[in-house]
Amino acid sequence: MVADGAGSALREQAGIGVRGRDYHQRAVVAHVASERAHAQTAWQRFTPEGPIALLPLADGRSSIVWSLPEARAREVLALDDAAFLAAAGMASDFRLGAFTATTPRASFPLRLQVAERFVAGGCVLVGDAAHVVHPLAGQGANLGLRDVAELADGLGEARAAGRDFAAAHVLRRYARRRRSAGALDAYAFDAIERAFAWQAPGWSALRGLGLRALDMITPLNRRLAAHAAGRAGV
Ligand SMILES: Cc1cc2nc3c(=O)[nH]c(=O)nc-3n(C[C@H](O)[C@H](O)[C@H](O)COP(=O)(O)OP(=O)(O)OC[C@H]3O[C@@H](n4cnc5c(N)ncnc54)[C@H](O)[C@@H]3O)c2cc1C
Repeated sequence: MVADGAGSALREQAGIGVRGRDYHQRAVVAHVASERAHAQTAWQRFTPEGPIALLPLADGRSSIVWSLPEARAREVLALDDAAFLAAAGMASDFRLGAFTATTPRASFPLRLQVAERFVAGGCVLVGDAAHVVHPLAGQGANLGLRDVAELADGLGEARAAGRDFAAAHVLRRYARRRRSAGALDAYAFDAIERAFAWQAPGWSALRGLGLRALDMITPLNRRLAAHAAGRAGV
C-alpha cells in the first residue's frame, strides 16, 4: 500500500503520473486563542483573497487554516504575532471576537492532484499519494480514510471467499471505484475554489443567492453533509 503523501516517491517509482493544477496559494496555519468560545463549531469565511477556516480544538483554541495567494501568504507569515492576530481577526470578521494568542505559524503549498492510476502491479495508492484536494472542504484526510475502508472491504471479501485477495481484478475494482469517486470530489472542491476566486461584477451576489438557495433545500443539504461525513449510499 502506497501512503507516503502528496509527493509520493513510491508512486513515482511505480511509474504513476499525476494530473492537476497548482493553486499558487499557501495555507497559513496556526492555533489561536480567542475572546469568544468556539462552541465546538467550525467556521469558514470566503474572502476575496481566499477562505479562512476556524476549526475547534479540544483545548478551547481554534486551528486557523487561511488560504492565500503566495505573495500575500509570505506577508502574513512575516507579520509579528500581534499583527497576525489582528489580520486573522479581520479576515474572519471577528466571528470568535479578537484573537488573543497564537502558536508559531506554518504554511503549506496548495494544489489539486489526482494520480493517473491508483494501482500498478501490486502497488495500491491511498490518501494524498492518490489525491490531493484544496483544504477548503476539510476533506483530504476523510478521502484517504474512505480509500482504506474500500480497500479493506475488497480484500476482506476476496479473502472470506477463499480467493487470492491480492489478485489483479480485486485491486482493479478498488482503483476503479476510488479513482472515480476521489477525482469527482477533487474536481468538485476545485469548482468551489474557482467559484469563490472569480471576481466578475455581480458574480458575488449571484453566488450568495445560490448558497442561500442551497441552504433552503433541506434534502440536498442533508445529502451533502452525509457525503462529507462519508456515510454510505450518498
Ligand atoms: C493546511 C491543510 C489543512 C487541512 N485540513 C484538513 C481538514 O480539515 N480535514 C481533512 O480531512 N483534511 C485536511 N487536510 C488534508 C490532510 O492533511 C491530508 O489529506 C492528509 O494528511 C493525507 O494523509 P496521508 O496519510 O495520505 O499523507 P500525509 O499526511 O502526507 O502522510 C504521509 C506520511 O508518510 C510518511 N512517509 C513518506 N515517505 C515515507 C517512506 N519512504 N517511508 C515511511 N514513511 C514515509 C511521511 O513522513 C508522512 O508521515 C488539510 C491539508 C492541509 C495542507
